[in-house]
Amino acid sequence: MKKTLLAVSTVALAFTGCHHTLNVKPIKHTDKGHHKHWNYKENGPAHWKEFSKTCGVGHSQSPINIIPGKTIRMNHSYDLSMHEDVNTMAKVIDNGHSIKVTPEQTGTISLHGETFKLLQFHFHGKSEHTVDGKRYDMVAHMVHQNPKTKQYAVVAVFFKEGAASPILDTIIHNVGKSVKLDPKDLLPKNDTEYFHYVGSLTTPPCTENVQWYLMKKPMTASATQIEYFREFYVDNERPVQELYDRKIESN
Ligand SMILES: [Zn+2]
Repeated sequence: MKKTLLAVSTVALAFTGCHHTLNVKPIKHTDKGHHKHWNYKENGPAHWKEFSKTCGVGHSQSPINIIPGKTIRMNHSYDLSMHEDVNTMAKVIDNGHSIKVTPEQTGTISLHGETFKLLQFHFHGKSEHTVDGKRYDMVAHMVHQNPKTKQYAVVAVFFKEGAASPILDTIIHNVGKSVKLDPKDLLPKNDTEYFHYVGSLTTPPCTENVQWYLMKKPMTASATQIEYFREFYVDNERPVQELYDRKIESN
């Protein structure tokens, strides 16, 4: 069962090249590609409601601005436990929206008694979430899914300019190839401090009920790495969305 679901997701991804559109049905792609497609330009975020209504009407959308002084205490039943340490071959592709990495063998995270598998991770040329209104230089989104409920959980790791990141080097120099890596190398040593809230995928279909965990401790990437990455993508960020009545937790 698990295998079938993953296979369907992979087919959908292969067709659309969208990094977040994991639940697009393959049937949508039988129209010989004449439908228009979302992007960050003429069919940018303001038009995404034409691709998925949720992007326009949802009240739990992502990304958002985090104001650390306005967070509430973490509900510990949603504490994150990560098991990402898997040495594996991974496929690195430029999917038209981002650089996306799909590991062959994947780690898991658990929260609220449920296990989520790492499907893929990808990068944005500036962070999508802001902290006190500030964007980080880059961000990695590690997209997980609960194979039983299909719910998503995304772990975001911010990058600021500093020392070079070995795993980022591995990735940006192997676009279009398969390479050996360990997704755990993306994570800060202190992975127990984060912001948590419930939001959405940040690209169409903007699916809601996504568990977001934003690592407080940023990783570093060198100026050269950031520049190199931005030759692929720099403006692939959705603007911050209204918080509405949601609360952001912090531990
Ligand atoms: Zn993303």
